[in-house]
Amino acid sequence: MSCLVCSSAHTDLKFFKSKIEYFLCSDCGAVYCEHIPASLILTENSDPDGRAELDRQEIRIERIHAALGRRTRSLLDFGCGRGAFVDFARSQGIESLGVDQHTKLQLPDLAGKLFDAMTVIEVIEHLPDPVSTFGQLVSLLRPDGVIYGESSFVDFFPDIREAPYIDPAIGHRCVFSRKAVGLLASRFSLETTWLNNNVFLLRHPAPLRLRVLNTAKAGLALLRRRNGAALNWRRKASRIRGAVDFGSGDDSPGDGLRAR
Ligand SMILES: [Zn+2]
Repeated sequence: MSCLVCSSAHTDLKFFKSKIEYFLCSDCGAVYCEHIPASLILTENSDPDGRAELDRQEIRIERIHAALGRRTRSLLDFGCGRGAFVDFARSQGIESLGVDQHTKLQLPDLAGKLFDAMTVIEVIEHLPDPVSTFGQLVSLLRPDGVIYGESSFVDFFPDIREAPYIDPAIGHRCVFSRKAVGLLASRFSLETTWLNNNVFLLRHPAPLRLRVLNTAKAGLALLRRRNGAALNWRRKASRIRGAVDFGSGDDSPGDGLRAR
């Protein structure tokens, strides 16, 4: 079978874990298998101990704010488990949604929405088709938005065949290498930043983000100018009405903003 990340059919190594054959991709270094029968999966570790700890949640949000260069206003937690991170983000005033295998809300339901930030925390290793899933995620990402991911990577396993992280019992279908993350990102013209051995950020290259921001700023300035012109016109109209109404005092500051 071909690699789930880069489609290469070249393998450096094949080995079995609980009767499931895993392949090490020669080209991107990902370790993947063809299928994991549901009967073999003991847990897909949704919200395992530690993942939902408060200080970890705070650190994630701080990293996302820092990556955006501003407070994130909207967030999608893909692979949200029982929703602990979504709840935490909401408690911070961030409009947040969660999607997982079992949730009623699924990615196609979000078509047309755009998020400042997306989180994929201990998720990418479970995906049967990471390219297709990331295609859907990127279509929901603001051009200046960020995807924040956590996983464990093949590069840091002393012996891939013995790594407990590569195991069908925990539903790990495709364990990425750092190179594989970079390749997946580049398919969608995203660049990868590593915050540490387990945490990565994906986003559009800076020039594009800047172009988008500048366009947004220019749009905002235009709106302000138009609003200013409308305000002046309304004040004039208001004064005229005031004159007709024998000075009703209708031209008080800001009054022109009231909907009429
Ligand atoms: Zn590959």
